[in-house]
This record gives sequence, C-alpha cells and structure tokens, in this order.
Amino acid sequence: MTNLLPLIPRSDFHIHTDLSPDADRDCTLANLAKVAAGLGLREIGLTDHVEGNPKPAADQRWQCTDLAALTRRCQQIRDQPWPLRLLSGWEVDYYDGGGYSFVPDQHLPLLDYVLLAHHAVGAVISESPARIAQYLLRITHAMAVDPYAHIIAHPFYFPPPPERHGLILACLSDHDLSDVFAAMRETGKAAEITPYQFSADLRSVEQMRRVYSLARQAGVKFALDSDAHRLWNMGEGLRCLHVLAELGFTGADFVDFAGLQQLART
Ligand SMILES: [Zn+2]
Ligand SMILES: [Zn+2]
Repeated sequence: MTNLLPLIPRSDFHIHTDLSPDADRDCTLANLAKVAAGLGLREIGLTDHVEGNPKPAADQRWQCTDLAALTRRCQQIRDQPWPLRLLSGWEVDYYDGGGYSFVPDQHLPLLDYVLLAHHAVGAVISESPARIAQYLLRITHAMAVDPYAHIIAHPFYFPPPPERHGLILACLSDHDLSDVFAAMRETGKAAEITPYQFSADLRSVEQMRRVYSLARQAGVKFALDSDAHRLWNMGEGLRCLHVLAELGFTGADFVDFAGLQQLART
C-alpha cells in the first residue's frame, strides 16, 4: 500500500468565510484558524466570493458585495496573531470575454494571491457536451494566460449532474488539454485540485485522472484545496490523495505559499 504521508500538503488555499453568502455562518476567522491548526495545516488562504466590479457581469447571489467588510477582513488577516499563517486570496470570477469580479488596481494591494475561477456557465449549461467542452477549453486557456491569477480554481469543473461531466471531458483531446496546461506552466500558475472533482461517477473520475495526469506531465504545480464552505469541509482535499498517488504524484507536485510566489516570479 502506498504511503500517502509524504504527499500531504500543509496548505489549503481555498476556504470561504462567513462573508461568502453560500458559506456557513460559523466560518469565522477564529473558528477556521482553530480547526485548521487542529488538522495540522500550516497555512490557509481565505477566499471569499467577491463582486467588487462596478458593472457586475453575473448573478451575485453567492458573491459578497460588501467591499468594506472584505477589506476589513484582509486587514484582520494581516494584523492579528493567528495559530497558523493566514493569507488573503479572494476567489475572483473571470467573466467570459474578459473582465473580473474585482478591480485589479484597487484590490490587488489587499491580497496575497488571486484564486481565479469561472462560474458563469449559464450561457452554455443546456448545450451539447462537445460545445460545453469547447467553452471550458477556451475559458480555461484564457485564465491560464491571465496576468493577475496565481491559482486556477477547479479547472475543467462543470456543475452537476456529475454523470454529464465525464461526457463533457471526453470531448477534449489530450492535445487540447496539454496546450492549456503548458500555458499554465509557462505563466507560473498553479492548478487547483478539489475533492468534488473526484466525487462523481466512474467515467468522470477517469476523465479527471486524465486531466491531472496531463497537467502533471506538462510540468504544472498544484494546490490541493478543500473549497470549504463549512468548518467540517476543511481538510477534504486529502480525499484525492489515493488517486493522486496512483497517478504518481509526490509531495514535490504541490506548492505552499512560498512555492506559489516562486512560480509567479518565473
Ligand atoms: Zn469556485
Ligand atoms: Zn470557492
């Protein structure tokens, strides 16, 4: 049996606080820090959904529009003593055709890193798997070459039903996927791995294995994150470790915050 211990990252770069409308109210900084320290993590990144663009391009129900509260939160993260390292890294939405849910000049100084995500799939949600696959490919490539992103959140993830996800990904060739991940490596971005990407049916899991194998072959580094919206979600990134070990991943494939900064300098 593979020894998974050397693989276990001590960083989680994707955790929501009570400022995200879709997160639990007890996800306060103090509670999150306490749970993370108990799990043996050394650093966590707080990544609330943000809508700080004066001309929002998407549904804002699950995004925090209270910029004053988000700004105070970043200061609190920086100023207070915590039992482990806390980082600020909003989950910024990338909008199709360019544009973000934040204003880079204004908001970048508040942040340690940017977790760039795409959730606005309403325009293609009823399309055929092949059309959705091409859409995901185009969007993910645009995020891979984006000037502000440090981590690409849940790449190639598409909302449930999960059995459709495998059909969508099967429409993408190894060559298509490798091109996107080569762009991520060249621009120094980490690719995120989240537990729910491996929590669908067998065909989807097979496809996710292919996606991340190709990413690793392209030389990409990874963030193994929980995307926690509840206290008990924290540490759930580890659910992927068995499958990643089977794919040949080692501890060297994951970045901590120092590694993330190093990537950004390359
Ligand atoms: Zn997300
Ligand atoms: Zn998230």
